Amino acid sequence: MLAAAGAVTGLWTGATKYRGSTARGYRWLGVAALFLLVGLVIATFLAGQLSSSAASLSLADVAPLLALAALAVGIMVLASGASPGSMAGLADGYVMAIALLVIGWVAAFGAEYHHSGERPETFLLNLLHPLTDLAVLGALLPVLTVAWHRVLLPYLSLLVLTGADSLGVGARISGGHEGILEQLAVIVAACLLGLAPWLDTIAARLARDGDADGAASGARPAAGAVPFNGPFGGRYVPFTSAGAATIIAAIAVVVAAFTVIVNGLASAPASGLALVIAGGAAVFVIAIRILMLVRENGVAIKMWRESGNSLRDLAVRTGDIVLLCDLDGVITYASPAVSGFSYPEAELVGKALADFVHPEDLAAARSAIRAALGVQPGSADASATVTRGAAGRFSCRVRAADGTWRHMECAVLLYHMPGEDARMLVTARDVSDQVALRQQVTHLTFHDGLTGLPNRAYVEERARDALAAADSERTTGVIFLDLDGFTGVNDLVGHGAGDLVLAQAARRLRAAVPAEGTVARWGSDEFAVLTDNAGGPQEVGELAERLAGVIAAEPFRAADRELRLTASVGVALADGSLPDAPSAPGGQSSRTPPENLLLRNADVAMARAKDNGGGRVELYAAHMHADVVRRLDLASDLQRALDNEELTLQYQPVVELATSRVTAAEALVRWWRGEELVAPREFLAVAEESGMVVALGDWVLREACTQGAAWRASAWDVGVSVNLSLRQLNAPQAVARVAETLRDTGLPPAALTIEVNERVLVEGAGLVTGRLAELRDLGVRLAIDDFGTGYASLAHLRQLPVDIIKIDPSFVAGLGADPTVTMLTKTIVQVGRDLGIEVVAEGIEQPRQMTELREMGCGYGQGFLVARPMAAPGVEALIRTSARNPKPGVPAA
Ligand code: C2E
Ligand code: CA
Ligand code: CA
Repeated sequence: MLAAAGAVTGLWTGATKYRGSTARGYRWLGVAALFLLVGLVIATFLAGQLSSSAASLSLADVAPLLALAALAVGIMVLASGASPGSMAGLADGYVMAIALLVIGWVAAFGAEYHHSGERPETFLLNLLHPLTDLAVLGALLPVLTVAWHRVLLPYLSLLVLTGADSLGVGARISGGHEGILEQLAVIVAACLLGLAPWLDTIAARLARDGDADGAASGARPAAGAVPFNGPFGGRYVPFTSAGAATIIAAIAVVVAAFTVIVNGLASAPASGLALVIAGGAAVFVIAIRILMLVRENGVAIKMWRESGNSLRDLAVRTGDIVLLCDLDGVITYASPAVSGFSYPEAELVGKALADFVHPEDLAAARSAIRAALGVQPGSADASATVTRGAAGRFSCRVRAADGTWRHMECAVLLYHMPGEDARMLVTARDVSDQVALRQQVTHLTFHDGLTGLPNRAYVEERARDALAAADSERTTGVIFLDLDGFTGVNDLVGHGAGDLVLAQAARRLRAAVPAEGTVARWGSDEFAVLTDNAGGPQEVGELAERLAGVIAAEPFRAADRELRLTASVGVALADGSLPDAPSAPGGQSSRTPPENLLLRNADVAMARAKDNGGGRVELYAAHMHADVVRRLDLASDLQRALDNEELTLQYQPVVELATSRVTAAEALVRWWRGEELVAPREFLAVAEESGMVVALGDWVLREACTQGAAWRASAWDVGVSVNLSLRQLNAPQAVARVAETLRDTGLPPAALTIEVNERVLVEGAGLVTGRLAELRDLGVRLAIDDFGTGYASLAHLRQLPVDIIKIDPSFVAGLGADPTVTMLTKTIVQVGRDLGIEVVAEGIEQPRQMTELREMGCGYGQGFLVARPMAAPGVEALIRTSARNPKPGVPAA
C-alpha cells in the first residue's frame, strides 16, 4: 500500500514536469496507481465484509480492473505521439500474451486447476486478473514497440502486475493470503510505475545527443518538444512494430514451448483442457501471423521485382550506359545504350570491365569502385568484405568498338537483389563532346588560329612564370616584333595572302628562336618572343637582331608576288630597372604586375624602332616610357585643340632663285599648347598614329586654300603648298575632299601644290600612286618632299606623275663642303630639268648654298635664309617687296 501510495504521489508530482499528452498520460498512470491502492485497501481491510468467494467476483476485483484500464489508457496516451501499431503487431501481441498464458499455465495455474478440481468455467473466473492483464499486455505490445522509450516502465510495471496476479491465483482459489512473492511483485510494479515520469527524464536525456548542452536539464520540456531521439544519439526512428513485436512474440513462444517441454519431461501434471485451448488459440494466432508474413513477403518480393524491372526500364530508356557486373568486374548485363559504342549488348556480357578502360585510368577507376563497394584498399577478395558504400564517381576513357577512346563519367554502386549475388551497378555517360569542347576552348584561349603560335594570354602567363622563377644566372627578356608597312601588304595582295605572309613570318621566327623560348602572336602583325634562359642581355639583343634578320633576309611569297618586308623590333630585359619603371612621369601605379611592365617596355621599344623608320632593333630605355606618356597626353590635348580651332598656319615662302620672286608659300601647321610651341613633327606623329591627322589635314587644306584664294584675289600670283601624310592620302574620299575644298574656296587647282613625303610613295605603294594620279587629274600639282632621303630612285620619277621635287635640306647643308653631295645635287637638278620637273632646294641657310644652287641651275629655293615660316601678313609683305625689287639677290627676311 505504501508503494502504491508512493506511486500515486510520484506520478502526480512527476506529471507536473510535463505538458500535454505526456502529463495526461502520467496522470492516467497515477489514477491506475490510485486504483491499485484502493484495491489493496479493500482487499486488506474490507475483505471480511465483502463476502469473497472463490467462485464469484467481488467488489475487491473491480478496483484492480479499473487500475488495469487506467494503466492501459495511460500507456496509450503516453505513446500518442507515435504512430499506432499495425494489425500484424496486434497479432504478435496476442501470440505473446498466449505464450505467456501457456507459461503461466504450465508453471502455476495448471497445477492449481488440478488441485482445485473446479469446473473449467469457475476456474476461468479465478484467472480473471491474469487473463485481462495478458489481454492488455498483448494489445499494448505494438505500442511498446513503437514508443518503447516512453512507455517501457509502465509496460514493465504491467508485466510485473500480471506476474503478481498470476501468483495470486492460488491464493484466490484457496481463499488464503497473498504470498510474499506476489506482494513483492506488487511493490515492484508500483515502484516502476511511480518512477516512470522521473526515470523518463533521465532516459530522454540519455537518448538525446550525448553532447547536447543540457537544454533539457533546466527548462521544462514541453510534451511535444520531448525529442524523439534514439539510444544511439541519432533521431529516433521507430523500428517497425511488426518486426520488433514479432521477435518479442517469437521469444515468448520459444520460452513457452521450452516450459511445456521441460514440464512434459518432468511429467508434471500440466496440459489439460486449458492448455489445449491456450495452445489452440496460440496456434491459430500464429497461423494468422504466418499468413500475414507470407503476404508481406509476397508484397516485398513483388516490390523487389518491380524495382528490378523499373531499373531495367530505366536502363533501356536512359541515354546513359547501364552495366551490371559481378564483383570481379565481369559484365552480366549491358543496356542498349552501348550500341552507341558500336558494341552489341550481348557481346559485352561475360567480358571484363577493365578490358575497356584506358590503362592509364584503370588505377583511379579501381580505387573509386573499391571505395564505392566499401572494400578497404589492399583487401584481396572483394566479395568477402563488400558492404554498401557511397556511390563512387570517376572519369575514365573507354574504348569503343571502332578503337576510339571516349571520355566517360561513371558512377558505381553496390547492387544487391534478394536471392542474388551482390553485383555492381555501373552507369556511364559519354562526355567526349564536352571534353573536346573544353580542350578546344583551352586551346583557343591560348593559341592563335592563323599562325598556330600561342597567343597574348599565353605569353603573359609565361612571362609571369618566368619572372617568378627568375634567377641572377639567366636573363629574362622580351622581344616585340612588328612587320613594317604590313597594311600596305594587305592592300596590295589582299587579306588572305596577307595572312599567308603572317604565317610564314611566324614560321621563320619560331625557327630562329631556341626551343625553350616562347614565340607568340601578340596581335595583327605583331609577335612577342619570351626568352627566360639567355646568358645575358647581349644574347637577347643578338636574338632580336637575328629575328629582324630572318624577316628581312628573304622576300615573302604571297599571291604570286615577292614581298620584301622589314621588322621593327623592341627589346626589354627583366633587370633591376623593372620595378622602377612605373615611377616614370605619369607612369602607372606600382601595382602593375612586373610581367606587364616587361611586355609593355618591349612594346614601347618596338614603337620607337618603328618611329625611327622601322627595320631596326631598339632596346628599351627608361625615357621611352615617358615619351609614350607624353604622346598620350599630346593626343588628348590635340583633339581638344582641333575641336577648339587652336591650331594656326604659318607660311614659308618659296622663291624663284633667279629672281627672288615669291612663287608660292608652304603651309606649315603650328600648335601653341599653352605656353609651349609643340614641334610639328612631334604632334603630327601623334595625329598620324591616332588618325586625327585626317581631320587636321582637312582643316589645314581649307585654311591654306582660303588664304591662297585671298592672295590671288589681290592679284598676287602665288600658289600654296600643303603637306599630306600617308594616312591623309589613304583616307576615303581624300581626292573628293580636295576637289570640294578647291570648289568651296575658289582656288584654281593649278595654284595648289600637294607635297608628299618620299617615304609615303614607297610605303603606300600602289594605292597612293593611284590617288596621286587622281589628284593630278584635278589639275593640282604634285611635289615629292624630302627628295633623296628615302628609297625613291631617280628612275622612279619617270613613272610618277610629279611636277616638283623638293631636295632635302641634308643635301643643301652639304653643298660646297661635300663633293659627293654636291655632285648628287647637281644630278638631281639636271634630271629634273631633263624631265621637265621643277626643283626646289629646301633648307637654304647660308648665302654660299644659295650661290651654288643658282650656279647649278636649281629653279627654286626655300629656307631660313630666304624666309622663315611666318604668318600670312608677313608673306604678303614679302610678296610686295619682292615684286617691287625683282632683282636676283637675297630678299630681306
Ligand atoms: P617639310 O614639309 O619638309 O617642311 C619643311 C620644314 O623645314 C618645316 O619644319 C620648316 O620650318 C623647316 N625649314 C624650312 N627652312 C628651313 C631651314 O632653312 N633650315 C631648317 N633647319 N629647317 C627649315 P616644320 O614646320 O617643323 O615642319 C616639319 C614637317 O612637318 C614638315 O616638313 C612637314 O612634313 C610636316 N608638316 C608641317 N605642316 C604640316 C601639315 O599641315 N600637314 C602635314 N601633313 N604635314 C605637315
Ligand atoms: Ca613640305
Ligand atoms: Ca621637306
